[in-house]
Amino acid sequence: MNSVPGKSPAPSSPEAQRRLAYFNDRKDEIVSTIRELVEIESPSDNKAAANRMADFIANRFSQLGGEVRLHPAKDFGNHLEINFAGKSAKPVLLLGHYDTVYPLGTLATMPCRILGDKMSGPGVLDMKSGIALMLHALAALKDWHQEAVHGGLQRPVAVLLVSDEEVGSTSSRALTESLAKQAAAVLVIEPAHGPQGAVKTARKGVGDYLVKVTGKASHAGLDFEKGVNAILELSRQIEKISSFTDLKKGLTVNVGVVSGGSRTNVVPADAETQVDVRIARMKDAAGIDKKMRSLRTLNRKCKIEVSGGINRPPMERTGGVAALYRQASAIARELGWKLGEAAVGGGSDGNFTASLGIPTLDGLGGVGDGAHAPHEHILISELPRRAALLAGLIEKV
Ligand SMILES: [Zn+2]
Repeated sequence: MNSVPGKSPAPSSPEAQRRLAYFNDRKDEIVSTIRELVEIESPSDNKAAANRMADFIANRFSQLGGEVRLHPAKDFGNHLEINFAGKSAKPVLLLGHYDTVYPLGTLATMPCRILGDKMSGPGVLDMKSGIALMLHALAALKDWHQEAVHGGLQRPVAVLLVSDEEVGSTSSRALTESLAKQAAAVLVIEPAHGPQGAVKTARKGVGDYLVKVTGKASHAGLDFEKGVNAILELSRQIEKISSFTDLKKGLTVNVGVVSGGSRTNVVPADAETQVDVRIARMKDAAGIDKKMRSLRTLNRKCKIEVSGGINRPPMERTGGVAALYRQASAIARELGWKLGEAAVGGGSDGNFTASLGIPTLDGLGGVGDGAHAPHEHILISELPRRAALLAGLIEKV
């Protein structure tokens, strides 16, 4: 069984003990960084607000000696790339996002609060605590390695914080992929999984489809027979679409939103549905896409149009992913805890990097619950060992 927060066995080496003590001594500083980040609201859909956040983070990273590069985005905040020098050629990429799902003004009703071990606020888990962990892990490495005789990090460190992850990463995807291709490994500092803080070694791929049916409008009383009911046709299609789910393959198809018709006394000419598709394996992508696109009307008088596709490939647990997890769990073991791993249904930008074949480990950020919900929070007591784990991984991959 995993250890309970705050009741961990002692670290197994003096070095691990020293590192954990280092972050325990700085726990309040980490908390105050998180508070600063939470109190600058950064919704994906507000470029001006997001840019304020980008500037604040850029400043913090440059204080640590990072070289900051802003990548302007047309409709979103600027994506933020920061580089730290190292001895070898290939960097380790720390990946995350600074946008949140919360509209501007949310802080008024959902302020940043600390109650016992819980710190709450918009985006505190997803993923402002993750950004704070990056900052404090890098600050620690700077401290530790400047003192060392042969100072400096082995690998250069690249940090990428994008502004549109919560809305599909359309603007940042190419940048994420190009930085990942140059990297030896990608560490994604998204929230950990569950109360024990497992890392994520597999994520499902995600697709979105829009299915539109067109029939023919008519008066439901006077001209009933002249109408062609689009809602009736769509309801038959929904049965078919739902049957594409194959739980054994980890493939799910969810008809999530339906709309159609105008008034009760009109035979409806239009109806549509939005469908969410999840796949565990890339090899299932083409098959489900073909099925969606091959939908044909049962009533020949109706027309059907299907648009969309698979937009995030799955993050599969490749050999490279498993090796990174083994490294992380060895570091955690030294620090005195058993780090679990999890396969989850939700996607992140780690899906893009892993599907390029770059070893990727996700869920290295804060531990808590309620992402995207009013009770979103992190556990403060988890912060020191998460920071120590991240610092250790940056050094060792
Ligand atoms: Zn996130």
